[in-house]
Amino acid sequence: MTESIVRVPEDRAEEYRRRGWWLPLPITDVALGSSSSYADRCAVVDGDRRLSYGELAAAVDAAASRLHRLGIRRRDHVLVQLPNSLEHVVVVLALIRLGAPPVVTLPALREYELDHIIRVTRPVAMAVPRRSRRFDHLAMAERLRDRHPEIRTLLVTDDDRSATAAQAEELTDLTALTLGGILPGVRIPQDDRRPLAAEVPEPPGPRDNALFLLSSGTTGPPKAIPRTHEAFGHVVRSAAEVSGLTEASVYLAVLPASHSFVFGHPGILGTLSRGGRVVLAAPDDARRTLSLIERERVTHCALTPAVLLQWLAAIEPGRHNLTSLEVLQVGGARLDTTTARKAREQLRCQIQQVYGMSEGLLNFTRLDDPDVVVDETQGRPAAAGDEFLVVDEAGREVSAGEIGELLTRGPSVLAGYYRDDEGNARSFTEDGYYRTGDLVRVHPSGNLVVAGRLKDVINRGGEKIPADELEGVVLTHPGIGAAAAVAMPHPVYGEAVCLVVVNAREPAPTLLELRRFLEDSGLARYKLPERLILAEALPLVGVGKVNKVALRTEVARLIASDHPPADGQHLLQADV
Ligand code: AMP
Repeated sequence: MTESIVRVPEDRAEEYRRRGWWLPLPITDVALGSSSSYADRCAVVDGDRRLSYGELAAAVDAAASRLHRLGIRRRDHVLVQLPNSLEHVVVVLALIRLGAPPVVTLPALREYELDHIIRVTRPVAMAVPRRSRRFDHLAMAERLRDRHPEIRTLLVTDDDRSATAAQAEELTDLTALTLGGILPGVRIPQDDRRPLAAEVPEPPGPRDNALFLLSSGTTGPPKAIPRTHEAFGHVVRSAAEVSGLTEASVYLAVLPASHSFVFGHPGILGTLSRGGRVVLAAPDDARRTLSLIERERVTHCALTPAVLLQWLAAIEPGRHNLTSLEVLQVGGARLDTTTARKAREQLRCQIQQVYGMSEGLLNFTRLDDPDVVVDETQGRPAAAGDEFLVVDEAGREVSAGEIGELLTRGPSVLAGYYRDDEGNARSFTEDGYYRTGDLVRVHPSGNLVVAGRLKDVINRGGEKIPADELEGVVLTHPGIGAAAAVAMPHPVYGEAVCLVVVNAREPAPTLLELRRFLEDSGLARYKLPERLILAEALPLVGVGKVNKVALRTEVARLIASDHPPADGQHLLQADV
C-alpha cells in the first residue's frame, strides 16, 4: 500500500529531532523499553487476569509473530474495536511492533462511521468482540467484511463462549492469539506447533506510521490521524511526565481505552512507559468503579466531567476508602469551577484539568499550579516545542486575554489527516497550524481557558457529535424536509442533541421513530437526538445557511419555558 501521510516539513522535523523531542524509538520501546529490568512487576490488570511486564512483553512478541503468520504485513492496517481488556492492549502493541498500524476505534461506533473509516484506511483485518453490551459486533463486522473484501481476517474475542465449533473455526480467536501460552488456561493456537521465534521482521522505523487515532471530528464522520513513532512517543513521554506518573502509579482506565486520552495521553502507554500498573475496567456503575479504586489502590484516573459527576453522586461517606487517589485528570469537555472544587474536597486528591485533542496538542494544569488556577483553567501545553496562537476571524493574533480560535503546530501535532485533502485544506493554515475550532483565551497564569467553540459540534459528555454528519443522515428519512442539530443543556452530559426538523409530509415522525431510523442507519447511539422540535422553517442567514446561533437561542428559550417531559427522557415535540 502506498503511504498517504502528510509529513511535517523536513526543516521542522529535523529541528524536532535535533532538540531531542522526536527520538528514534518505536512506540513499543517507549512503553516497554526498560521492562526487562522489572519483568516480574505487574503491568496490566483486567479483572482476575494479570500480566507482569515480562509476560506482557512476551505476549506482544508472540502476538506479533502470530499476526504475521496470519498474513498481516508491515504497512497493512488493522481496525481494532475492542472493549477495555488485555486482548486490546496486547493486540494494539503487537500490531505496532509488527509495523501494521492499528486503527484504534471506539466500541460505540457503528456501521455508518466504520464504513467510512474502512473506506479511508482500508484495513486487511478487524479485531472485535463477539458481543459487547448486548450489541452483536461480530454480525456488524461480517456485514462490513462483505462490503469491503480487502478485510481478510476477523479477530474475535468471545466472552460468552456461545459460538458453535464451526463458527469458532472460521474466526481467529483473539484471546488465544494474544494470551495463548502466556496465561494459564488460555488455548494455544494450533499453528504454534511451528516455533514462533524469529518470524517477526525488524521493528518499524521511527518515521513510520505507528497507529491511527480517530478524530472526534468537526465535520462529517471521524477522520484518521496517523501518528508516527517519533511524534507519538513525544506525546506519550511528555504527558506521562506532567501527570506525575511513576513506577508506583496505578492508572485506572475506565473510559474506553481506544480514546486517545486513555490510550496514550498519557493513559495506558504513559503508565507503562514509567513502569506503573494499569487497571482496565469497563465503563461501569460508579459504585463499582469506586470499589475497584479501593481494591487496586488506584492513584491516577482520567475522566470526563460527566463521569466525575456520577462519581461525586455515588460517594457515600465512610463506604469507600479512596485515600490512594493522587491525581484525577478531567477532560474531554469543560469542567466547571464549582465541580472542580467539590471534587478536590470530596475525593481529597489533586484535580488535573486536561484540554486535549486526538490531533496531538495536550494541555494540562500542572500538579504545582495553585488550586485557583487548576479550578479555572484548562492547562497549558505539556510537550516541549508545541506552539499555539489565539486568532480572530481574519487570522490575526488577538490581544492578551481576548477570546479567539486556538491554532497549534509542533512536534505533537498532526500535519494532516489521512487521505483527506479537502479536510486538510480546511483544517490547516498555510504555515501548517491546525485549526482546532475551539475558542480560548489566555489566563493571566499563562494557561488556556476554553471559552466556547466555532466548530458545529455537540459535546455530549466528551463524546463529540458533528452536527452536519447527523443532519445528513436525518435527511435520508423520507418524512424530513430540513433538519438542524443543536446542543441543548443536559444535567449529566453537559450537552445533548436537540434536533429541529421541518417535516416533508404528514404525519411527522416521532422522536422515537426517528431515533430508531437513525440507529438502523448505523449511527452510533450516543449521536441520537434526545429531543425533537418540529418547525415550519429553519432560520437562515447569508446564502441560505441555517442560523445556528439564532436556533440555539430559540431552542434554549423553548426548553426553559417547557414543563419537564412526563417520561423524564426529554422527549418532546413542539413548534418553534
Ligand atoms: P477528542 O479528539 O475527542 O479528544 O476531542 C477534542 C476536543 O474536545 C477539543 O478540540 C475540544 O473541543 C474538546 N475538549 C477536550 N478537552 C476539553 C476541555 N477540558 N474543555 C473543553 N473542551 C474540551
